[in-house]
Amino acid sequence: MYIVISLIIIIALLYGLLLVGYLIWRSKFGKPADNYIPILAYHKVDKKFEIGGTWTTPGQFQKQMAYIKAKGITPVTLSRAVELMKSKESRNKKYVCITFDDAYEGLYNYAWPVLQKYGFPATIFVVTDYVGKENDWDVNWGGRKFRHLGWQQIINMSKAGIEFGSHTRSHRDLRRGDDEDLKYELAGSRIILEERLGKKIKTLSFPFGRYNHRVITAAVEFGYETACSLSPQQRNNQINFMALRRSGIYITDSMWDYQNKIFQEGRWYWLQDLWSRIVNLCAGGTIVVQNILNTSHEKK
Ligand SMILES: [Zn+2]
Repeated sequence: MYIVISLIIIIALLYGLLLVGYLIWRSKFGKPADNYIPILAYHKVDKKFEIGGTWTTPGQFQKQMAYIKAKGITPVTLSRAVELMKSKESRNKKYVCITFDDAYEGLYNYAWPVLQKYGFPATIFVVTDYVGKENDWDVNWGGRKFRHLGWQQIINMSKAGIEFGSHTRSHRDLRRGDDEDLKYELAGSRIILEERLGKKIKTLSFPFGRYNHRVITAAVEFGYETACSLSPQQRNNQINFMALRRSGIYITDSMWDYQNKIFQEGRWYWLQDLWSRIVNLCAGGTIVVQNILNTSHEKK
């Protein structure tokens, strides 16, 4: 009898918790706009294990791309996605935008062959001071280092239709930079990419997805037409083209998570969205550690 009563209480509590979570999500975020194109934010695609969680195995990536193909969804670059959203052509059609932050070399070896197989375009954001180098800017949990794409690899992919955008020069939290830093990071990276690729660079991804009003003003001033965040503090039915919402893709994602991130309309999408926002909030830990390391570095 006690077991039954305890079970009923536990179930009631769980339902209560879900209901509170749902009500918070609905009042703060709510459903996406009907012209919004889901934007996926990948980081590493690699066989090498990493503690951070922001990676995808080549096997998972293949499965996810096959899913997009099977569902008849059309992947577009970020620039194209913005055009479609602005013209509202994206209504009632199924598009997705595949983006990669940090431009690791694993993309060339594991992600690009799959994208080519399906004829999928994508957008890659480069940290220009680290092209061809290892990721010293990152907190290397467990001491594992990863190499970034080299210029020749970037040029090959660009020629084949992959869009490149800026992820700044050194991957620092832009909110902490003064005017000179913002110019160095935003104008600097754009000019380097344009010179190397011979193409206009229009897109930007804020390191850690973090930005403020000053950062956005600088991004517009230094020539960007659109910029990506991860979980901007705005309702899902508002599309801010200078702080676009993206769904991070993680090693822990099941196909259920993936489906929710791609369609953003299912019954349980709210739970997935809320969870992503909590994960993104926790990623702030990396910034704190990085800031401590940078500050001690600057003092030397
Ligand atoms: Zn990044």
